[in-house]
Amino acid sequence: MIKIRGQRVPVRELSPEQRIKNFSSVPLGYSAEEAVAEARRCIQCRGAPCEVNCPIHLRVLDMIRAIATRQFKEAFFLLKEDNPIPAITGRVCPQESQCEGVCPLAQDGQGINIGKLEAFIADWARERGIKEEIVIKERPHRVAIIGSGPAGLICAYDLRRWGYQVTVFEALHKAGGVLQYGIPAFRLPTEVVDYEIALLEEIGVNFQLNFFVGQNIAFDELRHKYEAIFIGTGAGAPLFLGIEGEHLKGVYSANEFLIRVNLMKAYRFLEYDTPIVCGDRAGVIGAGNVAMDAARCARRLGAREVFILYRRTRKESPARVEEIHHALEEGVTWMELVAPKRILGDEQGWVRGIELVRMKLGEPDASGRPRPIPIEGSEFVLELDTVVEALGTTPNRLFLKHAPELAVNRWGLIQVDEKLQTNLKGVWAGGDAVRGNATVILALGDGRQAAAAIHRVLSPEKLG
Ligand SMILES: Cc1cc2nc3c(=O)[nH]c(=O)nc-3n(C[C@H](O)[C@H](O)[C@H](O)COP(=O)(O)OP(=O)(O)OC[C@H]3O[C@@H](n4cnc5c(N)ncnc54)[C@H](O)[C@@H]3O)c2cc1C
Repeated sequence: MIKIRGQRVPVRELSPEQRIKNFSSVPLGYSAEEAVAEARRCIQCRGAPCEVNCPIHLRVLDMIRAIATRQFKEAFFLLKEDNPIPAITGRVCPQESQCEGVCPLAQDGQGINIGKLEAFIADWARERGIKEEIVIKERPHRVAIIGSGPAGLICAYDLRRWGYQVTVFEALHKAGGVLQYGIPAFRLPTEVVDYEIALLEEIGVNFQLNFFVGQNIAFDELRHKYEAIFIGTGAGAPLFLGIEGEHLKGVYSANEFLIRVNLMKAYRFLEYDTPIVCGDRAGVIGAGNVAMDAARCARRLGAREVFILYRRTRKESPARVEEIHHALEEGVTWMELVAPKRILGDEQGWVRGIELVRMKLGEPDASGRPRPIPIEGSEFVLELDTVVEALGTTPNRLFLKHAPELAVNRWGLIQVDEKLQTNLKGVWAGGDAVRGNATVILALGDGRQAAAAIHRVLSPEKLG
């Protein structure tokens, strides 16, 4: 029996025992009845804080109203107008700090489950083959997009809808950026990402995979061949601690670990070529979404004990609440207020443990979070055979080396003006390449804004 208001309609999920044996989606999503019941809890409040607080100002209230009255098709078209990849954002956006966090019903922790409603509608349409009808009036201008993450994908989608000849260059063998290689299938099923990309191909976006701009083609040559370029190359180069023992076998950056698992399907080794070695006791350094993903993958790869090693406390963790909750349910141990000093190995060069120092929290630092301070003499050793460092990433310097005239700041982030134009004529940039580690929805917002700016420059006559 489903309640109409009051409590959130719960989302069915795989049990922790079932899910740690596979990479299947953990949330099973709403049924139509559940989605309608959840949508009917919405009070359609004035001012729509959920829309105001959404980086792309999705028309949430209209979508919810349509679901509440079972007009799923209308809800889908409305959603797609604002956001070309709702099946993805519905699953991975940090809703608790955006739309859901400001819902008036959230005060008692029962805000409308906007993310799951968004995913429900997108899945409902996908399962029925319902697509937008896009009529394209061709334009001759050629636009190149470098990188096929969410920023590049939305930029390609908008420009193609407006008739431009769009080619997306992607260094990896599959398009999607972090959606494909970073976020595991138990959070974002591969078929969902593949479907969205296939839709882009259907409307005529050309994808050049295994194609690294800067190496397969010089950046300058690309500039000569295309009238506009959008750079959405992300921030895929891992940061390391720089401590003793990082060279040991069994130490991974989260990037390598997740790419092996997600993109190269290392958990199906023999069937797929890429192996991965994950032992019995894995430690993941960091506490963001990437760390949760790595920890949850380690459990699925058979590690009996997995530790999140974090120098602050759970309250300061930047990970999505749902990810922390799922990781804990899956048996991941949260070890807070500890910082690594060195990684210890055996004579064969394999990881055997990590030396940690206990921390306490001090005054807020530049990030606004309390500064972790080491407690002298509190060092101890935790036995581990796998260590994954999830400390954040920076832009890949390889591309920047091949585009030396592009203005970047000291962290290698591409500098842009308020319209996302770089210092180079005809070149725009957005997403993590400009912001550093951010979110899918912010990358989407950038890609969309850059597409509009490119459109304005290439077709000024259409805009009056
Ligand atoms: C493991 C993980 C989990 C995350 N979880 C979440 C989450 O739950 N929610 C959320 O909102 N955000 C999450 N994020 C962050 C989010 O995924 C990123 O902010 C977002 O993907 C950035 O999009 P982007 O398009 O800027 O770049 P990316 O997604 O990084 O894509 C950039 C693409 O450019 C390609 N590329 C780079 N250089 C070149 C070149 N020279 N030539 C051709 N191609 C090139 C790369 O191969 C890559 O495919 C997560 C990130 C990671 C790593």
